Amino acid sequence: MQPLLSIESVSKRFAGHQALHEVDLAIGGGEFIALLGPSGCGKTTLLRCIAGFLKPDDGRILIEGADITGAPPYRRPLNTVFQSYALFPHMSVADNVAYGPRRAGTGRTEAQARAREALALVGLEEMGERLPRALSGGQQQRVALARAIVNRPKLLLLDEPLSALDLKLRRRMQIELKHIQEKLGIAFIFVTHDQEEAMAMANRIVVMNAGRIEQVGTPADIYRAPASRFVAEFVGEPNLIPVEPARPGRMRLKVTGAELPYAEGVRCVMARPEDLVLVDGTPPADLATAPGIVEEVVAVGPVTTLFIRCGDVVLKVARLGMSATALHPGSAVTVGLRVSALHPIVE
Ligand code: ATP
Repeated sequence: MQPLLSIESVSKRFAGHQALHEVDLAIGGGEFIALLGPSGCGKTTLLRCIAGFLKPDDGRILIEGADITGAPPYRRPLNTVFQSYALFPHMSVADNVAYGPRRAGTGRTEAQARAREALALVGLEEMGERLPRALSGGQQQRVALARAIVNRPKLLLLDEPLSALDLKLRRRMQIELKHIQEKLGIAFIFVTHDQEEAMAMANRIVVMNAGRIEQVGTPADIYRAPASRFVAEFVGEPNLIPVEPARPGRMRLKVTGAELPYAEGVRCVMARPEDLVLVDGTPPADLATAPGIVEEVVAVGPVTTLFIRCGDVVLKVARLGMSATALHPGSAVTVGLRVSALHPIVE
């Protein structure tokens, strides 16, 4: 099947700085993609190349097979929602949304009808007559979204659109945006440096680092099977446990001495804190165990994390709840690792 958007070996340099390095990516219709990565990794540069505000130095960008690499932004079947979504303060909400179609030559009645439809899609059908200042921040953000979808683009680009909102509203808008996207069926590409936001919304996450794509996958792929140490550390809390060669085709896990069927090239294995348990008495057969000493107990409501020193490695063990443990720094414990949950990392 032909992808909606194809990015083929796109590179972009700024004054000697390589912001994008031969980026390849294909996106299908109706997908919700998060571009995730640390500040300066090239997320916005990639989005701006797709939007047409920047021209790549090399490579091609295609929409439904048509090369749009050199097309101006207004000739592309897509739209962009920015972090600052400046609505016209003196115009009603409905007129703000109808402004785009009006400028494109649509008649007044038709433009108003489309604006009403777009406002209904974002759940603001009752608010059309208000002025923007009579809306909450979250509602204003939804007007900006209505304005961006009123012309029914095939693709919507969103550059950290929720970052101006406070945390609670932001979490609520993440869920709402996801529902709106599902209802619209328009593909979204959403830039964020917030891994929880990416996991909560996207059906696929593109993890970027220093101008390159490190991994593309579902939130579960990225979390359970990170392709690199960078991805493991950027998304969630990893335990990275060193391994050493035991014999051909086998590696030994340093903390437990367990042997695992990994080929050479594997430098460490990753386990998430919730994959580790504390063992009382005889451990079940699928657990590799190591003795350790509790160094720190951090309880943050839903999760308590124990930092446990096992030789020269400190392992993080997560347990549900605040009162999950009577353990304290200095307690001697046995840590158990479920061997099937370990993920090898090649470097
Ligand atoms: P953030 O999360 O901070 O927005 P980002 O991942 O979106 O970061 P970009 O804005 O794409 O990063 O920038 C990538 C790199 O290119 C950065 O090192 C940045 O300083 C550089 N860069 C971006 N735009 C320009 C420009 N117009 N001129 C020079 N350098 C630029």
